Amino acid sequence: MDFNFSKQDEKFRTEVRAFIDQNNPAGRPEDRSPKDIQAWNQKLAEKRWIGFSWPREDGGGGGSVIEQFILKEEMSKAHTPALGSDFMGLAWVGPALIRHGTAAQKDRFLPDLLNGRSVWCTGYSEPDIGSDLAGLQTKAVLDEGSGGSHYVVNGQKIWTTAAHVAKWIFMLVRTTSESESRYGGITCLLIPMDSPGIEVQPIKSLVGYHSFNQVFFNDVRVPVENRLGAEGEGWKVVMGALANERSGISESTGMERQLEDLKELARNSKKNGRPALEDPAVRRELGRYESMISAMRLNGLRNLTKQLQGSPPSTETSVNKFLRGQLEIPMADFSMSLLGTAAQETGPWQTNSLTFHGVVIGGGSPNIQRNIIAERILGLPKD
Ligand SMILES: Cc1cc2nc3c(=O)[nH]c(=O)nc-3n(C[C@H](O)[C@H](O)[C@H](O)COP(=O)(O)OP(=O)(O)OC[C@H]3O[C@@H](n4cnc5c(N)ncnc54)[C@H](O)[C@@H]3O)c2cc1C
Repeated sequence: MDFNFSKQDEKFRTEVRAFIDQNNPAGRPEDRSPKDIQAWNQKLAEKRWIGFSWPREDGGGGGSVIEQFILKEEMSKAHTPALGSDFMGLAWVGPALIRHGTAAQKDRFLPDLLNGRSVWCTGYSEPDIGSDLAGLQTKAVLDEGSGGSHYVVNGQKIWTTAAHVAKWIFMLVRTTSESESRYGGITCLLIPMDSPGIEVQPIKSLVGYHSFNQVFFNDVRVPVENRLGAEGEGWKVVMGALANERSGISESTGMERQLEDLKELARNSKKNGRPALEDPAVRRELGRYESMISAMRLNGLRNLTKQLQGSPPSTETSVNKFLRGQLEIPMADFSMSLLGTAAQETGPWQTNSLTFHGVVIGGGSPNIQRNIIAERILGLPKD
């Protein structure tokens, strides 16, 4: 097994570092203006580094997934703004369009995704349906009166992140009743959020943020050409999208950054009158996180190598998604113990400690990742 990057990859890393040195907006990440971030994204788009691993014929950069990893790793180390402005659109809607979209759909949606003109949200979960996604009930019925040119959608989605700012929803609906076909009765639709009949209601989180919503669909008319993949093939489309979502969630680069921040907190906190970072128990705990994050990084690179050899992301992305959950909550709790009484004040660490219990559920809860690893990777029997 060769743990080294190729000469070409290292050359690319040097190019990325030089670009970051020249273009990373000045100041702390939280002080950057929307104009700075827009200018940063514009420069990335000119280099085709947004959607870098997408095929060139689809507007991407034609880079390898390893080069894309290097790009993200260097950006994370340098605390640059994110890569592109539409996280969900770039992480899974774009790849799903590239795999399943018609030429007309690719022409219509991919340029906007790459140039920061679109914002997508994702409509999977329903009030009674989360982990058991195939039980979804939101219905789309072909309107025979319109000559079959439109679906009419009725139902409700929940926990829809960013629905209040999104222009489009990447949405799963039921086109055949569950009793006729559970998985085969599901279809993926791309729906403009300003369609008549869509109502968005906010859900506030316990720290007061508004990122979740409920979305109601009352006789929403959706042209048939907005269907992604064939009718009844939504499950296939969405399994690929979920693997991409988990692959994004499971990247180790963000965890490495969180660990650096945690070390900085330990350096600046006191334990028994000395910097907490000098305390053996604190060092042991930080070392434990570091070794788990290194394992995540190597496992992530192994998955990317499989992708380089032609296999799209699949169930293996659940391993790092699960590990991330096992790290984020203990790390946030550990930051509280370093803060001591200051843990009662408001601040980014306190917010993390309250929100990470929810964050680890997004994209599929830890128990669901355990089931996937047990049944589909280790081949254990279903319970
Ligand atoms: C931060 C965040 C962002 C999200 N964003 C979106 C979004 O943009 N769009 C969207 O559609 N949804 C979104 N969700 C919803 C998310 O996908 C669901 O919350 C998740 O799939 C779990 O579903 P549920 O909440 O209905 O819980 P349930 O499915 O009711 O699960 C409750 C508990 O039971 C456990 N459980 C359930 N089934 C099993 C089983 N078979 N075996 C073992 N344990 C089981 C689960 O692990 C969990 O602990 C988001 C959630 C979060 C927290």
